[in-house]
Amino acid sequence: MATSLKSRKGNEQIAVNGYIFERESVQPNGRIYWRCVEVKKGCKGRAIQDELGIRAGRKEHDHPPRTTDVEVRKVLTEIKTQAAIQQTQSPRSIVANAVSGTSSNIMAALPSITALKKQAQRSRQITLVRYGRTRRAPTFAVQLWNQYHNTLEGLPHTNNSVEGWHRTFSSLMSASHPSGRKKYTTITARLFNIITAYPSRDLEDYLNGLVAVVG
Ligand SMILES: [Zn+2]
Repeated sequence: MATSLKSRKGNEQIAVNGYIFERESVQPNGRIYWRCVEVKKGCKGRAIQDELGIRAGRKEHDHPPRTTDVEVRKVLTEIKTQAAIQQTQSPRSIVANAVSGTSSNIMAALPSITALKKQAQRSRQITLVRYGRTRRAPTFAVQLWNQYHNTLEGLPHTNNSVEGWHRTFSSLMSASHPSGRKKYTTITARLFNIITAYPSRDLEDYLNGLVAVVG
């Protein structure tokens, strides 16, 4: 299973089996090539993503998986994401939620709680600068309906409830259209491309892209 992460610069990365990848290229057919972040040290590890999911490339990594790093990065990504979404929640409670359930060896590898709270504050300020201070909290929390992470994680492989939802959905689709599943997986792949390209696009462009796929 792949997990989406944010790099220090805010770019999308993914973690698969303890390896962290950054996006290398998107092919015209929608296939995405991810390269290991240790590429500069000579690693040739790749992950290839298409509508079937994510698989490892043919070349081996020249280093072991960084399982602890991945867990640390997950916590940091969660803090950044929640600080941006939950504008009314205190940095303290955002950090508390993000570290809850974290094992003691991961806790030991994390920055101090003070540093994590500062990170939450910083992420929130960046969001405020970008979108303005006047926005109030939405009536329905974004997480209730947002499929962003599901899309990044390759919807069918995320968890059992999504799996069930997907099965129902695709059987509905294939009952009415023989090529329904193919059409649906293509949409998922296109959404993934748009979402992962977001950091380098402007907001209007991004939204237009989403509308073009689902509208
Ligand atoms: Zn590697």
